[in-house]
Amino acid sequence: MDRLSSHRATKEVVQKHNFKFSKSLGQNFLIDDNVIDRILAGARLSEGDRIIEVGPGIGTLTREMGKVADKVVAVEIDKTLIPILKETLEDLNNVEVVNQDILKVDVEELVKEKLDGGPVKLVANLPYYITTPIVMKFLEEDIPVTDIVVMVQKEVADRMNAGPGTKDYGALSVAVQYYCDTEIVAKAPRHMFVPQPNVDSTVIGLHVREERKYPVDSEEIFFKTVKASFGQRRKTLLNSLGGLGFLTKDQIKEALNEANIDEKRRGETLSIEEFATLANVINSKVP
Ligand code: SAM
Repeated sequence: MDRLSSHRATKEVVQKHNFKFSKSLGQNFLIDDNVIDRILAGARLSEGDRIIEVGPGIGTLTREMGKVADKVVAVEIDKTLIPILKETLEDLNNVEVVNQDILKVDVEELVKEKLDGGPVKLVANLPYYITTPIVMKFLEEDIPVTDIVVMVQKEVADRMNAGPGTKDYGALSVAVQYYCDTEIVAKAPRHMFVPQPNVDSTVIGLHVREERKYPVDSEEIFFKTVKASFGQRRKTLLNSLGGLGFLTKDQIKEALNEANIDEKRRGETLSIEEFATLANVINSKVP
């Protein structure tokens, strides 16, 4: 079977199975060969790779990954797609489809059971309504993931990739860049999907570092500090850090001073390194 990524091939499969697209499941299928190739290149896909895909749809990207990788496990929530995938992936015996909600899957267990314990890459055209929970699940849980190459809404990719002092920089930028080096892999305007969504997309590559670049004494305090700092974007750090709830204003002043950060600065100007330094000072003052 040829590629499924032309509009014609996708339409044929959809019509043959009388498939009804679900808007609430974020079903917009990719119909652009070039973007598929860019995703494979961005993931540096090679024959030893073990891949997890979230939301294979009719198997467009799945097929191309199955042709190259060692094994692909594709988790799809929509049971009406399962018989379709059975047919479109028929000739690839290294691809396994799991009919589940990715947010309910114990991915660590799945990697042990079906992917030889990893390491794995997450490569997917994600359903937009749960992009951030999926990406954060893979980063925060004990999953041996080396690379995440995913199609997301353009604005989300911009936020994940943003640096300090820019309008897109926020808690999501810091959370992602705490773990990963980020890279914009490809742009995918809305006309490259059926049905056409009302947003444009971007493929972003998140390459997980083996070692933390900014070591912190407590990840919990680090993320609380980041959240409080961005909680009220217009406020100075001296004020917004009050949101932490466990330090007095004097202690916050002291912490900012010790971390060498001007108390009048705003959270959106702090680099991840500065957040790490500040969080470590704050951690030393936790009552
Ligand atoms: N990979 C296909 C492509 O590129 O054409 C389809 C991508 S489509 C944007 C998102 C896919 O994710 C759909 O197939 C949808 O059914 C599936 N999906 C939505 N929510 C999901 C969830 N919670 N767990 C697993 N799959 C989900």
